Amino acid sequence: MASFKCPKCQAPASGESDFCPQCGARWNVECSKCGKSWRFFYQHKFCPKCGEPVAKQGAKTESAQVKHGKA
Ligand SMILES: [Zn+2]
Ligand SMILES: [Zn+2]
Repeated sequence: MASFKCPKCQAPASGESDFCPQCGARWNVECSKCGKSWRFFYQHKFCPKCGEPVAKQGAKTESAQVKHGKA
């Protein structure tokens, strides 16, 4: 079971690619805490390496979190 599909375009994915060659979706996402890259990291609930909750990191909403910072 080494094969999988791109979570965005469902294109067959394989190899060590970091991005989908079909739609450009990023497959390998870096944990903001430990820096370890995991494939489809945003689908995880916790970082398999350091245990940081993925939802907290907000892979897609990091810009929104920055805006909340008090200047
Ligand atoms: Zn894709
Ligand atoms: Zn981590």
